[in-house]
Amino acid sequence: MRIGHGFDVHAFDEGDFITLGGVRIPYHRGLRAHSDGDVALHALCDALLGAIAEGDIGVHFPDTDPRWQGADSRIFLRQVAALVRDRDLGVANADLTVVAQSPRLRPFIDEMRNNIASDLQVEPSQVNVKATTTEGLGFSGRSEGIAAFAVVLLLGR
Ligand code: MG
Repeated sequence: MRIGHGFDVHAFDEGDFITLGGVRIPYHRGLRAHSDGDVALHALCDALLGAIAEGDIGVHFPDTDPRWQGADSRIFLRQVAALVRDRDLGVANADLTVVAQSPRLRPFIDEMRNNIASDLQVEPSQVNVKATTTEGLGFSGRSEGIAAFAVVLLLGR
């Protein structure tokens, strides 16, 4: 059994949508990033890579590589999930927390969960996505950016 934790932050920037958990969410700002800025999937990739002692997302998908310019982070997640399977490990469950003062994420949670389950090749019942605010405190509370945490448990197959 292996456990992993991931954390990521992206700042808001110009734009009219953000991408979280592979879901395009209309918003009056975007997220600054080399890739699509999907902070939830980045935290999850880091949790999975942490669990298999494979460093972090920056090692595998460096932001200096033009291949990842504007990249769909679901590509990262699928590749990381393949690394997990290569080690004869399976995802028992994944738990994500997205920290955002705005926009309201509740309407998009189920779609995020389904996307993640599909990319990990597990059932949606093995994936939880939740959103919280920081009650107006800190960078998230000032709507300067979005943070995400992820925890995963892997089991030998
Ligand atoms: Mg990131």
